[in-house]
Amino acid sequence: MTDLLDQRLAGSAETWREGAVPPRVPDSLRVDRSLPASERLARWKQRHHERAEHARTVFADSRSPERGLPVARSRKAFVFVGELLRTRRRALAAMIGFNVLAAAAALVVPRMIGDLVDEATAGASLAQTDTVLLVILAVVLANALFTFAAKRAGAVLGYDLLAAAREHVVETVLRLPLGKVEAASSGDLITRITSDVNKMSITVRWSLPYLVTSVTMVVLTVVALLLNSWLLTLPLLLSALMLTLAVRAYLKSAISGYITESATYSTINATMTETVEGARTVEALGLAELRQRRLDDDIEESAQAERYTMSLRNLLFIWLDFAFQVPLVLVVLLGTWGFDAGLVTVGQVTTAAIYLQQLVGPLDRLIQVLDHLQVGVAATTRLLGVAEVPDDRTPGEARPAASDLVGRDLRFAYRADHDVLHGVDVALRPGERLAIVGPSGSGKSTLGRLLAGINRPRTGVVSVGDVDVMDLPLPVLRTEVCLVTQEHHVFVGSLRDNVVLAREGDATDADVTAALDAVDASDWVAKLPEGLDTLLGHGRTELTPAQAQQVALARLVVADPHTLVLDEATSLIDPRTARHLEGSMAALLGDRTVVAIAHRLHTAHDADRIAVVIDGRIAELGSHDDLLAADGEYAHLWRTWRS
Ligand code: ADP
Repeated sequence: MTDLLDQRLAGSAETWREGAVPPRVPDSLRVDRSLPASERLARWKQRHHERAEHARTVFADSRSPERGLPVARSRKAFVFVGELLRTRRRALAAMIGFNVLAAAAALVVPRMIGDLVDEATAGASLAQTDTVLLVILAVVLANALFTFAAKRAGAVLGYDLLAAAREHVVETVLRLPLGKVEAASSGDLITRITSDVNKMSITVRWSLPYLVTSVTMVVLTVVALLLNSWLLTLPLLLSALMLTLAVRAYLKSAISGYITESATYSTINATMTETVEGARTVEALGLAELRQRRLDDDIEESAQAERYTMSLRNLLFIWLDFAFQVPLVLVVLLGTWGFDAGLVTVGQVTTAAIYLQQLVGPLDRLIQVLDHLQVGVAATTRLLGVAEVPDDRTPGEARPAASDLVGRDLRFAYRADHDVLHGVDVALRPGERLAIVGPSGSGKSTLGRLLAGINRPRTGVVSVGDVDVMDLPLPVLRTEVCLVTQEHHVFVGSLRDNVVLAREGDATDADVTAALDAVDASDWVAKLPEGLDTLLGHGRTELTPAQAQQVALARLVVADPHTLVLDEATSLIDPRTARHLEGSMAALLGDRTVVAIAHRLHTAHDADRIAVVIDGRIAELGSHDDLLAADGEYAHLWRTWRS
């Protein structure tokens, strides 16, 4: 993959050097090259604007079937940062204060040099010059100290802001509705919490402090210029005009340009992740070339998006150079004329020239900061967009008094107008064991997810003790009904932390040991070097898939819900162990209600009742013996499995 990418990049670099059209531009991006450059740029601008708007509106409608996470409005990013700054007024004041002192010190020196020039012209004595030089030295030292303090204050504030912003992102991501996370492309979410957090962090850590420094320096320099001579300040007006026009034109297109650019990174990530995750399918169906082409297109699109923002920057820089250099020339010309007319002294011209020279640095940095702020704002709107995913539940006050789980008229669609469940009714008797069997894709897992309150049914309701499961706060819901799937995550942390996860606070070591015992894990746990304190996870003690599954089950035992939905929860363990495990689980669970979604029919055999799901409907419901006697779908499945 990397080699191909390198070859391709090398290839396109070659083509670019020759000034030819890049090899393969996706049709959707082809811009007629016979058009004049300005027209091409205008079309690009239009397209980027449309895309950014599109990215913003997708998911504004919560039922939008389109995959992707929303993007917040730019204003929200400013409100967010403003809110963070409001709670850190002292740090902000310290940073601004030191910057003002540093800038003031920096501005004293040119004024003194100007005075020195005037005095020298008037024939002042050497002793006076020495004193002035000593004062200049002291001011330069003070400037260095203030600059250090300002930078330090900026860094402290920047890192503090970054920490707060990161915490916000983590909180937001953790409270995302599970159904929505799964529906959104994983590439998008990953890009947002890696690349976008990075960009935001650069903005917060670097751009904000520099913004304060540069603005202070620019404002104070203009004031100093005016105090020095209003006549010699006039050339700055021309600069200001050029800068305003250039920066306004830039800003108009930049935000949408950067949002589109980030969206293309998400697309590349999504294509890559999907290809890698589905490598076997890709291989089995011979899709390699197709996926490769798709990735090529994504990269090309991303390159186009980057080229667009780069063009915007390049255009901006041309104007910046003009705006910085022209006033210096004008000051010299105007100064010569003013001196002749007796309006200014040579010292004033010297001071003005030094001030203008001093202004180039902060102005240049200010523009750079504005550029970074665009990237930062775009990244922040994408991060804040994650928080705009509408919550799929509104917890109410009612708490279930009983433990009977009932589903009525359950319908559910992953894509609009494509129901995968067609009005399922199911009522669990407390303490019973219900097995759900049926062909693959018939909707068993979906039914399990609805019963466990992970997804909200499109119609109908799942209630526990007559309270809608979607009206229960998640921590309460988890003590009522839990879902166990084949995917088990072992978190980095001790074995104990991993087990008490769902009931942190009041679970004792004895509870943990009892839970591990109940899931038949005590043998291997006894062999762990540090028992419950053994650190698990990547790079530490790694568990086998079967052990991870046992830890997940032990987690449930500790969480202690009255109803469990097991979605092929024991499939990674070999059949004999599975049977044993289920046996000990059964002994422990006692009067708990269990819904077991199973491929292995022995689970069904042991169950009190069996629901056969076919094409999103419960086709048969009854005990093993009843269903065999009825000689329907189940009897057929059973006979096939037996033989
Ligand atoms: P089973 O558990 O019986 O194999 P599922 O409940 O997993 O069936 O799936 C039922 C139907 O819903 C299938 O057609 C499947 O392709 C579809 N489906 C399942 N999960 C998703 C998803 N995340 N997005 C879109 N369609 C899905």
